[in-house]
Amino acid sequence: MKKKRFRFRFNLRLYFTLIVMAEIGISVVVAVILGVFLNLVAKGNILLPLTVWQILLSLLIGASISALLGKWFFGPITQLSDAMKKVADGDFSVRLTADKGIREIEDIYANFNLMAKDLGATEILQTDFVSNVSHEFKTPINAIEGYATLLQGDENLSPEMVQYVEKILFNTKRLSGLVGNILLLSKVDNQVIQSRVSTFRLDEQIRQSVVLLEPKWEEKEIEFDVDLERVEYTGDENMLMHVWNNIIGNAIKFDPPGGYVGIKMKQRDGEITVTVEDSGPGVDEEAKKHIFDRFYQADSSHKEEGNGLGLALVKRIVDANKGRVTVENRIGGGCRFTVVLPRT
Ligand code: ADP
Repeated sequence: MKKKRFRFRFNLRLYFTLIVMAEIGISVVVAVILGVFLNLVAKGNILLPLTVWQILLSLLIGASISALLGKWFFGPITQLSDAMKKVADGDFSVRLTADKGIREIEDIYANFNLMAKDLGATEILQTDFVSNVSHEFKTPINAIEGYATLLQGDENLSPEMVQYVEKILFNTKRLSGLVGNILLLSKVDNQVIQSRVSTFRLDEQIRQSVVLLEPKWEEKEIEFDVDLERVEYTGDENMLMHVWNNIIGNAIKFDPPGGYVGIKMKQRDGEITVTVEDSGPGVDEEAKKHIFDRFYQADSSHKEEGNGLGLALVKRIVDANKGRVTVENRIGGGCRFTVVLPRT
């Protein structure tokens, strides 16, 4: 039978008592020695009585010891707070190990690890479920969309019926967009994308995205300013296309008629930086915090035109490419999305 190794575990109260006792002891001993030394050096000519010197020195030494020990003592709490922040941001892989032998800290860490593990398992279950359901939705939605498109061309339909068919088509498109985004998200989460890597021109891809969105920006008479350096990039071409379609698509969507969209790309110091700016309403501080969360929509007037998954997808794809994406407001109005990718 394996022998269990004995390990002494302090409890926090004992630890605290020992520390305070040690602190007082050290302070008093050092203060007495220093006080006596001072008295000898000054040959009794010091202005303040010896006891006052000793109290002052004790306070000074005690405070220094507290400051030094405090950092060591509260380290595990800071560590716990950082880990909790990570969990709040959706990273359930974080685990803590206690190495100081304090019973309470070990218990808190063990419970924290259990919580993070359970939350991770629930998240996997939930995403698997959502992606399976979405997969099942795909076929019936395609069938409805197909038949509605066929009906749209029927000349015998009354004007009222034409309207109904248009409504069916609009909503099935929304639904298939939602299902498509959910499936894409789960693909990125499961890191399926890294398997389809190729080298392509990033500037060409962004231009393609602008061309693809032409019907939308032409309808709103939006002015485009595109300034892209030639950049060769190695990554998943299809997935990156979603990044530009979403960010540029949003810039067009939130721009007022006759608005402006500026797209720039440059390569510096091992990084590729793409900025997309618009002259829309911009994003407030609350929206900035949540804009990359799933299903978040700050602007209710455009709710019908989206599903709040676009930017969540953008963030995941950029993260999977070891890049970063941020948003800020422009001084003159509107906002600017910046995507930074490492040079490949
Ligand atoms: P949606 O499908 O609703 O556009 P997104 O994930 O793409 O979902 O965007 C989330 C929310 O972020 C939007 O609903 C909107 O409130 C805000 N947003 C995104 N892009 C812009 C932009 N260019 N200007 C202002 N708000 C934006």
